[in-house]
Amino acid sequence: MRPVVIAVAITGSVPRKKDNPALPVTVDEQIAATRLAFEAGASLVHLHVRNADESASSDPALFGAVMAGIRCQCPGMIVQFSTGGRGRDARQRGAALALAPDMASLSTGSVNFPDMVYENPPALVDSLALAMQAAGVRPEIEIFDLSHLYGARRLIDAGLAKEDLHVQFVLGVKNALPASATILDLLLGELRRVLPRATWTAAGTGRHQTEVIDWALERGAAVVRTGMEDNIRSARDRLVSGNAELVALAVARCAAWGARPASVGEARQLLGITPEMLKKSDKNANLCKKTG
Ligand code: ZN
Repeated sequence: MRPVVIAVAITGSVPRKKDNPALPVTVDEQIAATRLAFEAGASLVHLHVRNADESASSDPALFGAVMAGIRCQCPGMIVQFSTGGRGRDARQRGAALALAPDMASLSTGSVNFPDMVYENPPALVDSLALAMQAAGVRPEIEIFDLSHLYGARRLIDAGLAKEDLHVQFVLGVKNALPASATILDLLLGELRRVLPRATWTAAGTGRHQTEVIDWALERGAAVVRTGMEDNIRSARDRLVSGNAELVALAVARCAAWGARPASVGEARQLLGITPEMLKKSDKNANLCKKTG
């Protein structure tokens, strides 16, 4: 069976505990939720951090604390920070990149969101890409619109990113791309033409989460994405019990398509996370043992 990376986006910036009390918000909750998701089969965690009032934060201290806990409790797991914009000051969005997570999200253009413009002007995109390059962080390019693919190409041509980018198509955000298999095929056609060496995944929001996982598996994606950032329900009238439940659902979808969850070693190989970065994780794991 082919190994597929299961990425879990545990918190995001939009849902609140009042929407689903199982949403992990504090550092300890985020570490515990990631561990359960890791044990259920996830090999990549996508992180947002929150202030005490649950609002979105860019605080490097929070990112650092969550990453340190995950390095201890989930050895080898790929840690990806969000540099996303909802509720965050543009100047602060890259503040945690110096902590050198394995990966970070990078949006390469602006788009309408349900109730705001998600602003990613070219100068901001370039500065985030540069900061990732400086810290040895592998970007995950977030595609909320077709034009964002050409934005990624522009980064490569400017020497701000490598040819073998990892790309995520985000489907089902109101006012952006709808969740449709036809749209995914169109995006993949352009991906193969514009970024032929890219690996890819797709994320479906809300009730579209499972069908987008199926479309991605059917089309040979390296990664499938799940998690409470995108979806807090297992049915219209039922809240999920936590991120691990969503990971278990993704594992079941993998089995249905003749795939299985990748180990952390396989995940790093599939996504080209360099041995150098592996070493860094090992160092952190050792640190964890010493401090108990
Ligand atoms: Zn996110």
